[in-house]
This record gives sequence, C-alpha cells and structure tokens, in this order.
Amino acid sequence: MSRFAARVDLDAVRANVAVLHRHAGSANVMAVVKADGYGHGMVPCARAALDGGASWLGVAFVEEALALRAAGIDAPVLAWLLAPGDDVAAATAAGIDVSVSAGWTLDAVATAAADAGRAARVHLKADTGLGRAGATVPDWPALVEQAAKCEADGLVDVVGVWSHLAYADAPGHPTVARQVAAYGEALDVAGRAGLHPQFRHLANSAATLALPEAHFDLVRPGVAVYGLSPGPALGTSADLGLRPAMTLRAEVALVKHVEAGQGVSYGHRYTTTTSTRLALVPLGYADGVPRHATNVGPVQIGGRRFTVSGTVCMDQFVVDVGDTDVSAGDEVVLFGPGDSGEPTADDWAQAVGTINYEIVTRVGARVPREHVGAA
Ligand SMILES: *Cc1c(COP(=O)(O)O)cnc(C)c1O
Repeated sequence: MSRFAARVDLDAVRANVAVLHRHAGSANVMAVVKADGYGHGMVPCARAALDGGASWLGVAFVEEALALRAAGIDAPVLAWLLAPGDDVAAATAAGIDVSVSAGWTLDAVATAAADAGRAARVHLKADTGLGRAGATVPDWPALVEQAAKCEADGLVDVVGVWSHLAYADAPGHPTVARQVAAYGEALDVAGRAGLHPQFRHLANSAATLALPEAHFDLVRPGVAVYGLSPGPALGTSADLGLRPAMTLRAEVALVKHVEAGQGVSYGHRYTTTTSTRLALVPLGYADGVPRHATNVGPVQIGGRRFTVSGTVCMDQFVVDVGDTDVSAGDEVVLFGPGDSGEPTADDWAQAVGTINYEIVTRVGARVPREHVGAA
C-alpha cells in the first residue's frame, strides 16, 4: 500500500445503484458523479453506476461532462450549472444535455446549435422553492415560451423539465408537498406552451429513497450512489441497504515516546497526561482531514479506536496511542464502511459538525484513489 490512499469499492457503487434502481420503480436512474464522483473518482464510478443500472449521468459543469465523453462514456449526461463563457458549442457537439434556468443561457445554446447545425438537448429548470438555480414562478412562462419557439425552429430539443428540493432529507417537511405541487404547475405551464418533455425529474438521493411522489421519469441520486445516507432522518447506510464505498487509510509514519506534560502539535491544544507514545499520521487538511477534527476526529489503528490528539496540520496529525502496540507502518483507518469497527464518514461528520457529503468530497487531490472491484 502507498503511504495513504482512498480505496473505492466499485462493487459497492454498483450494488448501491441497483438498490436505488429498485426504489425508483419505473423511473430511470441518473447517477450524479459531479465533483469527481463526490471524491470517489468520476470515471470509474460512472462506469460502475452504469453497470449497476443507471442509464444517465449527472454533473454540475460542462467540463465534467466533457471529461466523461473524453473517457469514452456515451450515456446521456446532464450538466446543470452553466455560466457565461461556458463552451456550450463543445457541449452540443458532444451530445451533452444542458440545464437552462434563464433566457440568456437559452440564447447561447440556440446560437451554438445553429452553428453546429444540430439541435441542442436542454432541460428547463424551474425554481419551485429551493431558491437556488431555476427560473422563478414569474419568470417561468417567458422561459418556456422562448424554449417552445427555439424548439419549433429546430434549435433545441426540450428533453426535460426539472427542479430540486430544499428539504428532501426531512420527508415530512411542509415545503416538500409545496414544491411537488409547484413542480406540477410548472409542468402544466410548459405543456400549455407546447412542450412535452420526455424526462420530468425532481428527486435527489433522499427523495429517491423516501418520496415516491417525486420520482416522475428520472431520479438523480448522488450521495447514496457512494453508499452514504442522505441524512440521519432517513436512517443509516445499513438501514437503507447501502454500502459506503470509500475507505480512507494511511500508514503510521512515526511512533515515539514522550513524557507527561508534552504539548502536542500547533498551539499545544493537546497535552499528554502520562508518559506515553505518539503516532504520526501523514494526512492533513490538505488531504481533506478537517482542521475541526482537532481533538475529536476518530481513527482506528491496529484494530483499536483512538482520537486525533491536538491540531490537525496541513500534512499530518498526531494520535496519543498510550502503551498500545502501535508501530511505524501500521495501518490507520480514518473511515470506511464500518464493518471492521472502523469509524465511518458519518462518525467524522458528526465529530466535526458537517455532513458526510463534505467528508468524502473534500478528500484531496494528493490522496490516490485505489479502485477495487467491478473491472
Ligand atoms: C448534487 C445534486 C443532486 C444529488 O444530490 P444528493 O443529495 O447527493 O443525492 C441532484 N440534483 C442536483 C441538482 C444536485 O445539485
């Protein structure tokens, strides 16, 4: 093993997608692989997800979609976060579907399509209450009219009408029903403008698992593809039949004896209380170990649980291992699926006050991803 690595179990990704596919019923599954597959490696995870029954891939940026195409993946791909200056022409040429929330984006897409002599595939996005991307209720009629005109002119093909939920991880939350209703109204407005999209989609992981009324024609799970629960209200990974795909591990770089009263790491935010041994772990905040894990991050070394001792540094942190039998070269597991007693990404999220999404997605570029399973 290298000094440290994030091992990614592609069989778990494939099996998680199969679980999501069963939940989705007759809806298609778009596996969301943005942000380097939530830190797991975009292309291998995309392939494993397609193997597991996904028929679409979802990313934020056109560049991410182009990287999928460059890797030879020809499944339908939706890129939903366009900004001025994006290479819409390249997206159109590569047959990438793009999301449109505003008239200027539609203009750019229509121009690229006219130049290419090929209709661009678009998904019109309605803001049904999240208050993020999407056209607001007052702006929606003009957007769908403009899109209908572009479609009539052969410049765009409105493949989808879609939206995104604010509280899918709180299934009984009153905004959920309101957003589902607002989405229905947005579809009606689009229908009256003459648009009949083949793919209506609203559901992220949480809604795929817990809100069948939000499934429509296509679901867009992300975090659950990687085996993580979208939130405590939905249960643990195990409750949901999901398996966390990533194990973040390292090898102890150094073990040394120190006396009681030794301050440890920057600012001496930990001080030894007895004569003891300190183990140095060569992963730091540059690698995604949150600095907030100082004195609280859980780790497993040689099968035993310990806690980060003192400040997490850029490249390393220290663990007071007492008189346990730990030596340089021993394996340290920061998090994994949890079945060998190691901490999970959920444990880290809870310890540092964030969500499991952030724990896995922030694993840094310096950490090699080792993909195992699902060749
Ligand atoms: C990231 C994202 C998803 C996936 O969300 P999860 O909670 O990870 O399932 C789906 N749709 C959109 C628009 C997103 O930005």
